[in-house]
Amino acid sequence: MSECIFCQIVDGKIPSQKVYEDEFLYAFRDINPVAPEHVLVIPKKHISSLMHLEEEDKVLAGKILLGIKKIAKQLGLDERGFRVVNNIGQEGGQTVFHIHFHLLGGRQLTWPPG
Ligand code: IMP
Repeated sequence: MSECIFCQIVDGKIPSQKVYEDEFLYAFRDINPVAPEHVLVIPKKHISSLMHLEEEDKVLAGKILLGIKKIAKQLGLDERGFRVVNNIGQEGGQTVFHIHFHLLGGRQLTWPPG
């Protein structure tokens, strides 16, 4: 069995609050939300981080972006605006090594990130 917690979420072995699913993507609510809407969008394929994306993943990378757009619309964030965050590696603050995109919204976000 995979030790990756996000692979286990995709497989239904760890419960999650599913927001969206298709053949390639899975999206679920973050267990520790930092905004009223905080969803993690992941590919079902295990890829450790952006730095592990390969040429063969370029179609999948596009599907992730288009999936984020679809999910933002589903959550009613398309008109309000929202933020997408991808943490990479130790100094990037990545804690789960299955590539994921934080979709954050539902409040006024600030910059620098906050
Ligand atoms: P990172 O810091 O960018 O790697 O983000 C990992 C995110 O996964 C954090 O925001 C965590 O709160 C979230 N997380 C970790 N485990 C779970 C879980 O089992 N369900 C939902 N979210 C999780």
